[in-house]
Amino acid sequence: MPASSWSAVATGRCRVLIAGAGPAGLATALYLLHLRPELAGRIVALEKRRHPRPKICAGGLIPRTIASLNELGLRLEVPFVEVVRGRALTEIGAFDHVREEPLCTVVRRDEFDGRLAHAAKARGLRLYENAPVREVALEPQGVRVAFDGGQFHADVLVGADGSSSKVRSALFGTGNNAVGRALMADLPVGKELSEEFTSRLYRFDFRCVAWGIPGYAWSFPCLIDGKPHLNVGVYDQTPHAAAGNRSVKPRLDEVLVRSFPEMTFTNHGAQGRLFKGAPIRWHDSTACFVRGRALLVGDAAGVDPMMGEGISVAFEHGKLAAHAIARLLDGDERALADYDHAVHAGPLGRKLKRLASAARHFYGPHHRFFLRAIAANRRAREIALDWYNGVRGLDELRTGGVIVEWLRSLLRGERYVA
Ligand SMILES: Cc1cc2nc3c(=O)[nH]c(=O)nc-3n(C[C@H](O)[C@H](O)[C@H](O)COP(=O)(O)OP(=O)(O)OC[C@H]3O[C@@H](n4cnc5c(N)ncnc54)[C@H](O)[C@@H]3O)c2cc1C
Repeated sequence: MPASSWSAVATGRCRVLIAGAGPAGLATALYLLHLRPELAGRIVALEKRRHPRPKICAGGLIPRTIASLNELGLRLEVPFVEVVRGRALTEIGAFDHVREEPLCTVVRRDEFDGRLAHAAKARGLRLYENAPVREVALEPQGVRVAFDGGQFHADVLVGADGSSSKVRSALFGTGNNAVGRALMADLPVGKELSEEFTSRLYRFDFRCVAWGIPGYAWSFPCLIDGKPHLNVGVYDQTPHAAAGNRSVKPRLDEVLVRSFPEMTFTNHGAQGRLFKGAPIRWHDSTACFVRGRALLVGDAAGVDPMMGEGISVAFEHGKLAAHAIARLLDGDERALADYDHAVHAGPLGRKLKRLASAARHFYGPHHRFFLRAIAANRRAREIALDWYNGVRGLDELRTGGVIVEWLRSLLRGERYVA
């Protein structure tokens, strides 16, 4: 019986137990094994499904994620499409940006997460698949976790089980007011007919803000079984909020059809259901990310409120969690509180808070005013894009540092990009 089958009843102790083996759980394991290779075989991940498992996601990796992979010594060993042009459509016009380096690398999540799981296992993670976590309880110096197939006692628990996290609901409360939703579809295209492929372009369409959806529609080029497709979707940051002066929000599939009238949205046989939806929990700075010996990472903790981008955040959470856990296992009892502080007030917490504020402005009643302000200054848009993407560590700077970068580029009188 393979160690990764839940039917091999497992019970016992481990140092670190990770609920969920998506990017956040696997990044936590990879960073921890990088810091403390002697933990090989003593970190357990319980995953509800079996890799390569389907995951509803557009698969866009921003440069910050690629930097995390490099830091972990991992290569992108899955098919991908690199995007070097971005187009944002808004009520007041379209804005294009071009880079020499990729703005985004688009993967398929089943393949990407499967490779990540493979790498983590090779470095010493004990991964139990088809092993959903059922019960979680805090103990005086650790946690107890029951799953389909057994139970573990561990020194520390990492809740990496996504937006509908069991760990979160068991130990932290649901906090459901900070959950957005997204709907997507994969559409086959002819490579030579699609601008996304011919120009290596992704499109973001924010016009739906005026239609009552605080968010945007997107179109990314991607490869499914080697064949060119467009992944198109729409993100709604606050599904339960009223739609401005409208009584009813438009349906997300209708928003997609309206945003991309040139596309044909019909079912495509083998792919089954065309539209696929999933929640995205976003960062709420009033939330708590540590309770006893349990901490939250990735979607379970909450990701980028503005764009719903969560893969880079999952890696960032994983890195912070790994450092805190390594210190805790060395006997530093303050380490998890420091994790909580870092997620609130460190560079990642500051970035997520600014994105929450940007979402309030750009998706709020005065969105046209903020659009005009950003439309007026191309350099500010470029620096904002690089800040968002985490290029050259810009996203780790305080606001003053970013403003200095912007002023410097103005003084040099040249295009901002290095
Ligand atoms: C339509 C859509 C498009 C998106 N596009 C992008 C994008 O282009 N770029 C981007 O960066 N982000 C995107 N996101 C967000 C991104 O998918 C998430 O932020 C990211 O997957 C978070 O990683 P995670 O590991 O925290 O959670 P997940 O990837 O959800 O992984 C959680 C894992 O936990 C497992 N699990 C769940 N419950 C249990 C349980 N009880 N026991 C054990 N295991 C459990 C799940 O099976 C899963 O494998 C998108 C999201 C949606 C919905």
